[in-house]
Amino acid sequence: MKPVNFAYERPKQVADAVSLLADESVHSKVMAGGQSLGPMLNMRLVQPDVIIDITALAELKRIDRQKDHLVVGACVTHADIEDGRVPDVTNGAMRGVASGIAYRAVRNRGTIGGSLTNADPSADWVSALAALGAEAIVRGANGAQAMAVESYVTGALETVLGPGELLEAIRVPTLSSSAQWGYYKVCRKTGEYAHAIGAVLLDRSRNVFRAVIGATERKPLVLTDARAVFGGTYNLANFDQNAADAMLQTLGMTDALDRQIHTVALSRAVRQAAGS
Ligand SMILES: Cc1cc2nc3c(=O)[nH]c(=O)nc-3n(C[C@H](O)[C@H](O)[C@H](O)COP(=O)(O)OP(=O)(O)OC[C@H]3O[C@@H](n4cnc5c(N)ncnc54)[C@H](O)[C@@H]3O)c2cc1C
Repeated sequence: MKPVNFAYERPKQVADAVSLLADESVHSKVMAGGQSLGPMLNMRLVQPDVIIDITALAELKRIDRQKDHLVVGACVTHADIEDGRVPDVTNGAMRGVASGIAYRAVRNRGTIGGSLTNADPSADWVSALAALGAEAIVRGANGAQAMAVESYVTGALETVLGPGELLEAIRVPTLSSSAQWGYYKVCRKTGEYAHAIGAVLLDRSRNVFRAVIGATERKPLVLTDARAVFGGTYNLANFDQNAADAMLQTLGMTDALDRQIHTVALSRAVRQAAGS
């Protein structure tokens, strides 16, 4: 199928993109890598009057390394991260996640910001960035504001973005050299969206212990203090699968098999983080 006719804009400045987006008299849609938007256009699931192509915005390709964090522009591609063109402040965690997304052709064009904003519950960055404790930097007419990734994604295919706003960058904290990280994605074959995701980060020297259960058909379950599923301890060996299962039940996951797959994904991420 073909998309509806639409106008096309390719602004050179972020401010111009923001003012185009703020025009509520037309239905506009941002396009980054087009890897999710393209199929949606073809199936006419979205029918915009105007496409705002953000790939000429140099600001959105910015990579800025600071002492305790890295700012990654929203239009940095999965392949940029996979290939190490982005400094690795996560001891390989981000490279590993990027290399497991889809196929190389998709990774060449698909962007970290597009993936996060698409907010597909099964998408890798939605869970991985939440587990890393990353922040989303949202740009609007009144400037930029940062918020935790788990606040940026509000539900399945939903974010906080309002009219006249775009995702400018993602701020990723620098992990200490002793940080322990695990990420496990359940899928039938390489290059597929996840059926379940488990992720865990234990970074004792920064007092960070986070865990995420993702691909749950809603926004990920983010434990900013993962001790809740480790018997109240900072010990990866104490992972309590029953506590994770109980949390998923309170979230409304009624299917026992679903809960089992998700808790197994988390337990495998924990094993990876523990190096066992
Ligand atoms: C065959 C296939 C397999 C895939 N498998 C996986 C997988 O295993 N794991 C995975 O995580 N993903 C997977 N994907 C999705 C892929 O990672 C895409 O790169 C990603 O979802 C969308 O990124 P994009 O840059 O192409 O965004 P686009 O498609 O251009 O945009 C996606 C959405 O985000 C909005 N948007 C984009 N950028 C911004 C911004 N900066 N500010 C505001 N709004 C913005 C758009 O308006 C649109 O609504 C797959 C895609 C394909 C086609």
